[in-house]
Amino acid sequence: MTTLAILGGGQLGWMLGLAAKALGIDTRFLDPSTGVTAGAVGEVTTASLDDAEAVINFAGGADVVTYEWEGVPASTVEALINAGNAVHPGIASLSVSQDRLIEKQRLQALGIPVAPHAEVSDLDSLQRALRSLGLPAILKSRRGGYDGKSQVVIRDESDSEAALETLTSAGELILEGFIPFDREVSIIAVRGLDGEIKTWPLVENLHRNGILRLSRVSSEALQDAVQSPLEALAIQYVTSLLEDLAHVGVLTLELFVKGDQLIANEFAPRVHNSGHWSIEGSKTSQFENHVRAVTGLPLGETDLTGASAMVNCIGVLPDPHSIAAITGAHLHDYAKSPRRGRKVGHITLLAPNDSDLDASLSALFDVLPGDDG
Ligand code: AMP
Repeated sequence: MTTLAILGGGQLGWMLGLAAKALGIDTRFLDPSTGVTAGAVGEVTTASLDDAEAVINFAGGADVVTYEWEGVPASTVEALINAGNAVHPGIASLSVSQDRLIEKQRLQALGIPVAPHAEVSDLDSLQRALRSLGLPAILKSRRGGYDGKSQVVIRDESDSEAALETLTSAGELILEGFIPFDREVSIIAVRGLDGEIKTWPLVENLHRNGILRLSRVSSEALQDAVQSPLEALAIQYVTSLLEDLAHVGVLTLELFVKGDQLIANEFAPRVHNSGHWSIEGSKTSQFENHVRAVTGLPLGETDLTGASAMVNCIGVLPDPHSIAAITGAHLHDYAKSPRRGRKVGHITLLAPNDSDLDASLSALFDVLPGDDG
């Protein structure tokens, strides 16, 4: 039996494990915390991801290693590869995605538009960057930020000192010009070991307080064989990125839509929250195709099975009975204790068309608890 060793044992690991199990593939997980979600589907080793020796021991005897979090230290993946392990996605995907400055430079080199940006190291360089990029602007840590954490919007030059102060422990910084976007979208794609690429339809994403709240895929992509020009552009961008990185597995590119333009925000070298709808909404989910890709199986079809949406449960779960009563709704419970701002589960909605999806979404928002997201 094939064994897949997964670095990280959160909900993404759990859903990868469930998809792997259905394919007859065993999974095991390594996570620094105990009692993690993926424990429901495979054995969990508790160790630091910085502990290369522990990680190499954990991977011993597995056929392939993957990760569910791009914060895995590149030195750990390097040590795994040097010890003879196959690791997918590879080191380039991981290290480029870990640094917002390097990521933007790589995207730009591929002709993919990004927000205007500048490296910031102190008040002087911040003020210079603000004068050249204009206001408002967003000061972000180059590494480690997620869900809108480690970033501050600067609306007035007099806020610069306070913004720097807020991010003192965030390491190296980058200033980005604020993009007055119309919408936020993501394109999720997968590349197999043999270089085959498949993409899912463009996903529309709504955030609240920096956390993804709702992702939605229109049934137009189901009825209409012709791609929208924006989707075709997104596919062109993500394809060039996958090929440039020689990426194997799923990769998600987050984009701002401004008029007929797409501007890349960032990419994740992994399955993504904005792709959870694909569990019921696509012939092959992002999780199954990631497992297929990294274990060398042929990729599955990514066609839609309907109009789809995904709503995150932030802080607290809804009553399962009220969700089960909504047509096309499926609750995915991560078995996590409730905590402010924490993703504790999600609900996918599947409908035959967009208007039915609207109706199910409004029924869902009627019964969702007033979360603290
Ligand atoms: P990030 O952590 O980079 O994904 O940013 C979190 C959210 O902040 C994004 O989903 C956007 O809503 C917003 N954001 C980030 N960067 C920019 C930008 N340069 N211009 C406008 N909004 C941004």
